[in-house]
Amino acid sequence: MTDVLLENAIVVPCEGNRTVFDPGSVLVLDGRIVACDRAELVAQHPAAAASSSIDRVDLAGHLLIPGLHNAHLHSGLLRGTAESLALWEWLEQHVDPAHRALTPEIAEAASWMAYTEGLRSGTTSVLDMWRFMEGSARAAEGIGIRATLAPYTADKYGWFETMATNRRLLETHRTAADGRVRAWVGLEHMFYCSPEMFREAAALAEEFDVGIHTHSSETVWEVEESVRQFGKRPIEVFADRGILDGRAVIAHGVWLDDTEIGVCVDRGTAVTHCPCSNMKLSSGAAKVGKYREAGMTVALGTDGEKENNNLDMIEELKFGALLAKLSTADPAAGDPWDLLEMATREGAKALGLDDVTGTIEVGKDADLVAVDLGAIHFVPLFRSGADANAVAHLVFSASGRDVSDVWVKGRRLVENGEVISVDITAVAERAQAAAEELFERRRALGEPVAGPAAQLGKSV
Ligand SMILES: [Zn+2]
Repeated sequence: MTDVLLENAIVVPCEGNRTVFDPGSVLVLDGRIVACDRAELVAQHPAAAASSSIDRVDLAGHLLIPGLHNAHLHSGLLRGTAESLALWEWLEQHVDPAHRALTPEIAEAASWMAYTEGLRSGTTSVLDMWRFMEGSARAAEGIGIRATLAPYTADKYGWFETMATNRRLLETHRTAADGRVRAWVGLEHMFYCSPEMFREAAALAEEFDVGIHTHSSETVWEVEESVRQFGKRPIEVFADRGILDGRAVIAHGVWLDDTEIGVCVDRGTAVTHCPCSNMKLSSGAAKVGKYREAGMTVALGTDGEKENNNLDMIEELKFGALLAKLSTADPAAGDPWDLLEMATREGAKALGLDDVTGTIEVGKDADLVAVDLGAIHFVPLFRSGADANAVAHLVFSASGRDVSDVWVKGRRLVENGEVISVDITAVAERAQAAAEELFERRRALGEPVAGPAAQLGKSV
């Protein structure tokens, strides 16, 4: 059933004008939004709105927002097992050995878990960097979520994906599952990938007309090392190597200087801000307000389960707001609306999906999230006037556990707080077994192989 009338909600369309319809209704026919706001429904679609065949959902006491875009994620199974380490030490001792031990079956179980967890807490679209991503595509298709798949490719270490396997994924999954699943080109990091690989990646993205996703400028050390090795800062190196010629999304971008901000604005390069991960790994505070003022598209992401340690985009809104306030010593920074826009409209724009999703507007796909404002941590609720506080409640008081319902393309995937598109217990049990197998395999490999930090003589 993808015809549905959602009634009596506090509707926050995120279309750019910070409008709220309260009480508002959204009419969805054939998976698309055909009307938003009660007056419009009655005037333009009286028969549909009054039809007895349509699925009617009373959302009184709920906030209705566009589906959230988690624009930087890694499926994974290391949650809670590698704490209190610096980024490069953590990569070398925990993350890379797990990559070496990974199998396609374990990788697929991780994607089923990550996407189900994200969906339950209001994520309708992910940009996932992972491996053996044919399994990730199956997970996204089965769960009903949108997924953009950017494989972890690298040519300096033997255990990653290659441009050949990325090409194979593009050949089979460039656009799949009725457009919900898409493949992109991935590059792990400039220290894991040769300059030649960057050029191959740019050519591959151009050939298939898809975007590129990579990490950069997460720590001061890597920026300094880029200058030492290549004579330029990372974003300038990326421009030289051609990966910013088309659509590109850079994860983190914590340490961009004015020149790099200018390059991103000129090239339309987006950054995904991952405040929780950046705080947990002590990477730094991206100057998100400055980036946005300059005209950059800044999306929001959780990063992986190993550096967050959950995939709750509603919690991420709060972390983003608080980090902005703390790092700028400006209480006006990190306004709740700014964070909500980054997670919705700007996330869709970064992913090139803004024609189809990211806002609650007529003509867009019905990717919608209802948040139940009935719990005690939302008291008092003021619905109108100068004290209206529903959006502040979403960012500062809510978590993903308050999400009651989720629709993607009009299909209801979460109902009254329960995932209904998959058996969440079976997904969790499969992931637990896969993690136990992964850790057993990793132990059998013995000592970690030296990664870029050790090879470049960095003391971490
Ligand atoms: Zn990452």
